[in-house]
Amino acid sequence: MENDPFESVAGFAALGLRAELLRALTSLGYEEPTPIQQEAIPPLVAGHDLVGQAATGTGKTAAFALPVLQSLTAGRRDAGPGALVLVPTRELAEQVSQAVHRYGRELGVRVLPVYGGQPIGRQLQALARGVDVVVGTPGRVLDHIERATLKLGDVRTVVLDEADEMLDMGFAEDIEAILAETPESRQTVLFSATMPPRIDGIARRHLRDPVRITMGRKGVEPGELPLVRQSAYIVARAHKTAALGRILDVEAPTSAIVFCRTREEVDQVTETLNGRGYRAEALHGGMSQDQRDRVMGRLRAGTTELLVATDVAARGLDVEQLTHVINFNVPAAPEAYVHRIGRVGRAGREGSAITLAEPREQRMLKAIERLTGQRITLEKLPTVTDLRARRLELTRTALQASLETDDLERFRVVLDSLTDEFDVENIALAAVKLLHEAAGGDVEEEEIPSPAPSAGDRREPRQGGGRRDRPSDSSVARLFFGIGRRAGLRPQDLVGAIAGESGLSARDIGAIQITDRFSLVEVPEPAADMVIAAMQRSTIRGRRPTVRRERFVR
Ligand code: AMP
Repeated sequence: MENDPFESVAGFAALGLRAELLRALTSLGYEEPTPIQQEAIPPLVAGHDLVGQAATGTGKTAAFALPVLQSLTAGRRDAGPGALVLVPTRELAEQVSQAVHRYGRELGVRVLPVYGGQPIGRQLQALARGVDVVVGTPGRVLDHIERATLKLGDVRTVVLDEADEMLDMGFAEDIEAILAETPESRQTVLFSATMPPRIDGIARRHLRDPVRITMGRKGVEPGELPLVRQSAYIVARAHKTAALGRILDVEAPTSAIVFCRTREEVDQVTETLNGRGYRAEALHGGMSQDQRDRVMGRLRAGTTELLVATDVAARGLDVEQLTHVINFNVPAAPEAYVHRIGRVGRAGREGSAITLAEPREQRMLKAIERLTGQRITLEKLPTVTDLRARRLELTRTALQASLETDDLERFRVVLDSLTDEFDVENIALAAVKLLHEAAGGDVEEEEIPSPAPSAGDRREPRQGGGRRDRPSDSSVARLFFGIGRRAGLRPQDLVGAIAGESGLSARDIGAIQITDRFSLVEVPEPAADMVIAAMQRSTIRGRRPTVRRERFVR
């Protein structure tokens, strides 16, 4: 384990990043580069083109954002944007520009997300004032190019993020048109979770002698993995802490380690768990060896039941009695998962590995399954009813243990003094109630909404016209959009708007039919109302069309 809290960003310093960026990473609590960052940052800083196969959750955003920021020259106030990042959805445009903003804070970098559905006026003003990094969806970026409000002549780096998703959404031509507006001498970076031949085609046409990086190719040796129960919960980011608390309540681990990505996350999770009545302790690379030893001592002695740690801090840590490893996020590389779960189920003991994944990170779970050759079962979050039942069960167990082992005679006076007036059964019930309340009582919690179920790999042909048949799958809803070909509508506009506004993946959107005046789009039934609500707040090709369920089912 490292002692020096500053040693932890040494990993990033060794990648050749400038001091302003290193300070930003320290303040965000990043302890070490993820594998994709380790491999991608040096060639990118050196100016090479790059093709990286990496999904959400691997840290790919920082892998391209840090080199982009590194090469932005200070005081380039009069020039046009120095970097352009193309992303498939509004959600990702916002996420990536927030990341660029956070990493580039000290450099005073001006970053602007541009996507359809957002009032264009604000974007125009910001562009006119000057922007260093534009993060946008292809449709809206092309709009700006056509209006001459975005000039790409000074662009030094173009990043195509989630390139496979962009192609799935029909943005291939837009991407080609945008690239044609950028200088030939530019650096081009392409990240994609999958590498179908079409992506390779783009890489061949637009990238120069790119460095290629693929993560998670190595297999795991048989015997390297302990036999533990592996499960995962899909939870939206906003509900993760609540979900963690609930899972812990139901699992009731004797001794567990919760892995987090950053120091900030470690502190925040520790605080929440303590607030929930757990004895949780933080362990991260910013702590001195002394502090860490004391925490470990308390865990071994059983005073602490939960350890909340970063990978760096937990390295080399050997705890015999761990029953659970909990990943608060999907680890940045499948290999890290294997490493983490190796800490439970030692010496033939039973153990559990539980992972919380955001909807977009499901692909990483699949990559882990491929690496380990073992299944990770997707579980449903415990409901408030489950939780109540579990708490009652714990109360019952506590009573049973007391009945079996405690000497209860000295309480007989209390019982005897009440039996004249009350029924013994009622007295027992009152005692159970008091015990239950003393142990935390009933659950005063709200249900955690489960994210719109992903239709997984279900795919249907997507076309401009045709497909009039009724969806065979009853879990599909067909939505009416009061906008069509006359307004210049293309399938990718619908996919882009729906995916961008509702957070639904492009893969979840089924057949699309566009007529002159209206369009019909299939979406998963459970997500239909959410999509309608999201679309009512946004615009498509500058209009706000009627969006509702289709009335006439053929
Ligand atoms: P991404 O795969 O780019 O979507 O990143 C996934 C998450 O990991 C984001 O929340 C990042 O803030 C976080 N992250 C990226 N790099 C690191 C790192 N080196 N250490 C800790 N967290 C990171």
